[in-house]
Amino acid sequence: MKALCWNGVNDLRVENVPEPKILNPGDALVRVSLSSACGSDLHLLGGHVPTMRAGDIIGHEFLGEVVETGSGVETLNKGDRVIAVPVIGCGHCWFCENAMWSLCDNSNPNRQPQEAIYGKVTAGIFGHSHAFGGYAGSHAEYVRVPYADHTAFKVPDDIPDEKAVFVSDAAPTGFYAADLCGIRPGDVVAVWGCGGVGQMAIRSAYLLGAERVIAIDRFPDRLEKARERAGAEVLNYEEVSVLDALDEMTGGRGPDSCIDAVGMEAEATGIEDVYDRTRQVLHLQGERPHVLRQAFLACRKGGTVSIIGVYGCLVDKFPIGVAMNKGLTLRMGRQPGQNYVERLFGHIRRGELDPSYLLTHCLPLDAGPQGYAMFRNREDNCLRTVFAP
Ligand SMILES: [Zn+2]
Ligand SMILES: [Zn+2]
Repeated sequence: MKALCWNGVNDLRVENVPEPKILNPGDALVRVSLSSACGSDLHLLGGHVPTMRAGDIIGHEFLGEVVETGSGVETLNKGDRVIAVPVIGCGHCWFCENAMWSLCDNSNPNRQPQEAIYGKVTAGIFGHSHAFGGYAGSHAEYVRVPYADHTAFKVPDDIPDEKAVFVSDAAPTGFYAADLCGIRPGDVVAVWGCGGVGQMAIRSAYLLGAERVIAIDRFPDRLEKARERAGAEVLNYEEVSVLDALDEMTGGRGPDSCIDAVGMEAEATGIEDVYDRTRQVLHLQGERPHVLRQAFLACRKGGTVSIIGVYGCLVDKFPIGVAMNKGLTLRMGRQPGQNYVERLFGHIRRGELDPSYLLTHCLPLDAGPQGYAMFRNREDNCLRTVFAP
């Protein structure tokens, strides 16, 4: 079958690889209909995620049809139209039983790399390096879904593919970011980053009761979508001082919650950006934590900072003193999408959420390398490239 394989920094190739097989009774095989490019895939392309190997298939947001199930699968049948969440949960360990799916104890068979870096091992993720389980990703004609009863979900018939595919990753990740904020009616929420996840975080904050959501980015097309499609007030950080503007918009108090939907490759202006980029190029740090620093400063005293943008390990100049003295609550994690899929289907069916506008470009899998270049360089106002194998 055809698959889009990682071969090194910014080196993706469409290759012919063996089709996956059922390996365990809980597995399902899914023929992929749509599989999208996510911002966290760009970290793989940029070489910021160690333990990638040449030939690894990437991709983790997808929709498809079940073509075969293992003998232990109970909730899915051949022919079902499903989405899978990127984070694989076994459904039986203490963490899965307590709804902390992304911290599953069993779904990542490669324990050593994470135990060495994080002290404990977290869940496996499709197409996201050997430290996260070495699972083949979804930019392929077929993908093996482990623990399918807990990882793949039947899509209701009345939800079309172009909406449902984003209930795999962008929508639950954004929803989780907003959920972590503990939003109360009347709250003001600021969201850094207006990519797919940021757009969904804005909508989710409103669905959870926020009165105002302020979105921050530098690309006019994304800001326009955040305003028009998600209902945010918007700030372009190349045009205004974000901290001053947020103070002004909140009567000097600052947003009640701040969401970092950017992560380790944050861009900034001025000397701080030069400092962070230089240290990253020299491998003195892997990540640029500019958004985190700004969110800590902007947040109201006693507020919450929710981190959903991906970080790998260490960051430099992490302003812990700001958080401590302002009494901030820090919450973060990879999305436990299993908790949100059914709720998000409900919001879509009631017309309260429509993620389909994230799909700006649909390409055949053969155009994978070009599709990723377009996504990375934000050509043609690309928000998310989706491949249809
Ligand atoms: Zn993702
Ligand atoms: Zn588990």
